Amino acid sequence: MALEEYKRKRKFEQTPEPPPKVVSKTGHRFVVQKHDATRLHYDFRLEMDGVLKSWAVPKGPSLDPGDKRLAMQVEDHPVSYFDFEGIIPENNYGAGTVMVWDVGTWQPLSPVPVNGKYVPGTEAEAAAMLAKGDLKFRLDGKKLKGDFALIKMKGRRPGSKGNEWLLIKKHDDAQVEGYDIDEYDESVLSKRSLAEIAGDSGSREWTSRPSSGRGKLKAAWLADAVAKLDKKNLAKKTTAKKKQKA
Ligand code: MN
Repeated sequence: MALEEYKRKRKFEQTPEPPPKVVSKTGHRFVVQKHDATRLHYDFRLEMDGVLKSWAVPKGPSLDPGDKRLAMQVEDHPVSYFDFEGIIPENNYGAGTVMVWDVGTWQPLSPVPVNGKYVPGTEAEAAAMLAKGDLKFRLDGKKLKGDFALIKMKGRRPGSKGNEWLLIKKHDDAQVEGYDIDEYDESVLSKRSLAEIAGDSGSREWTSRPSSGRGKLKAAWLADAVAKLDKKNLAKKTTAKKKQKA
């Protein structure tokens, strides 16, 4: 039963996340969500079989073929999760801020390259590659483009859950050496940064509260972001004052 695990983990009267519904018409979209939960990670999701097949990627996808990014397969998500951006409240599964980091379409590639190049494949090939643990696909997103592979790691190490894959960029025109995902902290839906999305429920409080009263900002990165913002604002005010005097 697809989405059973998704359903079991969540309290839908508390979380703004979409309900567990399998759709009959499957498209070929993909989404990458930046998720500041217990640990910051990116969720990579491919629309397949009426759900979103999902992997949590701690370091996020890369356009550099030299990067092999660990991708833990997690429970299937409903297709309506595709444009979910916002805040999962505390005490809920995955509590934290979610940004829609990239969206687009994907197509399966044939497992057999032609003249060293990957060519479009069929649905059946995609299903077989997923089952085999070597899925090749092409992305056409706003940020991610080109050919990729998701490869399941064999040989279970002690403590491994057997859900570890590697997300790897293939060599093609879309590759970017030294790709740094931190340079792209912007939602493709709302153009907001993660800090801005997180601020939705309390940014006014934070800016009016003296810095000593910010005990509630548990997340270090958030406190850091707010501190930087304060500094910037202060600099702006000082410059404005200087201009007035001149
Ligand atoms: Mn996540």
